[in-house]
Amino acid sequence: MARDPVCGMVLDENTAKYKITYQGETFHFCSVVCKKRFKRRKTKYIK
Ligand SMILES: [Zn+2]
Repeated sequence: MARDPVCGMVLDENTAKYKITYQGETFHFCSVVCKKRFKRRKTKYIK
């Protein structure tokens, strides 16, 4: 299972529609809102 780094929601990688590959890692999101938020503030959500 994947985790939305923005809101913390647990997601199924197979059904998650929103994803970004960044620095070789794939991040999944529950919604386009979380995806946009992540894009704007990547450093805030990546440890
Ligand atoms: Zn989310």
